[in-house]
Amino acid sequence: MIRIDILTLFPEMCEAVLNESIIGRAREGKLVEIYCHNIRDYTLDKHNRVDDYAYGGGKGMVMQAEPIYRCFEAVCEMIGKRPHVIYMSPQGKVLTQDKSLKLSEYENILILCGHYEGVDERIIEAIVDEEISVGDYVLTGGELPALILTDSIVRLCDGVLSDSECFENESHFNGLLEYPQYTRPEEWQGKKVPEVLLSGHHANIEKWRYEKSLERTKQKRPDMFKKYMSDNSDKQ
Ligand code: SAM
Repeated sequence: MIRIDILTLFPEMCEAVLNESIIGRAREGKLVEIYCHNIRDYTLDKHNRVDDYAYGGGKGMVMQAEPIYRCFEAVCEMIGKRPHVIYMSPQGKVLTQDKSLKLSEYENILILCGHYEGVDERIIEAIVDEEISVGDYVLTGGELPALILTDSIVRLCDGVLSDSECFENESHFNGLLEYPQYTRPEEWQGKKVPEVLLSGHHANIEKWRYEKSLERTKQKRPDMFKKYMSDNSDKQ
C-alpha cells in the first residue's frame, strides 16, 4: 500500500479535498495512507515564522529550509525510512499519466508544497529527488498541484477504482484520448446515442471506440496522434 505524506502550510486545505469522493473512500477503506503535515509545527522560531525576506532583495517571502527539514526528518522517523521526495514546482517536469503510473508503484512518497516565492534553494538540494509541475503557469502555492498529483496517483492504486479497465481505456493511458461516452436517455434534445453502442455486439463496439479514439486524438491533439502513429506503426 502506498503512503503519501504532504508537507504544507495549509493542511486543512489539502484535507478538505482528500476526504471527499473516491480518494476519501480509498483513505477510509485503508487502500492508501495520506497524511498532511503542517510545516509550521516544526519551526523553532518563537513567533512561529516559517518564511523570511529573500537575500539579495526583491518582493515576496521565501520559505525557510529548517522547518521543512525538521518536518521531513519527522516523517522519515515515523515511517522508518527515507521516502521519495517530490517538490511541486513550476520549474519541474510537467506531470504526465506515465509519471503518475510510475509513482503509484512507490511505497512512500513525500510531497513538498511551496508557497509565497517558493522555498530556500538549499532544502531542494538537501532532500528533493525530483521537481514536478502541473503545467506552464504559476499558482500561489503547491497545495493544488500536490492534490492533483496525489489524485492522479491514488486512482491508479489497487482497489481504488472498481476495475483497472476504468483507467486503462481512459485518455492518455495508451497515448490516445478516450472515445465519446453516452448514458441514458437514448435520445436527448433530438440527439441519438450511436446505434452501435445499443447493439450489444462487443467486437463492433470495441472497433467503433478505437476508431473514435483515433479520430478525436487526431482532431484535438495532433501532437499525440503523430506520436501514437509513429510508436504503433506496426499496427497500421
Ligand atoms: N518563484 C517561483 C518561480 O518563479 O519559479 C514560483 C513560486 S510559486 C508563486 C509558489 C509555490 O507554488 C511554488 O513553490 C510551488 O510549490 C507552487 N507552484 C506554483 N506553480 C506551480 C506549478 N505550475 N506546478 C507545481 N507547483 C507550482
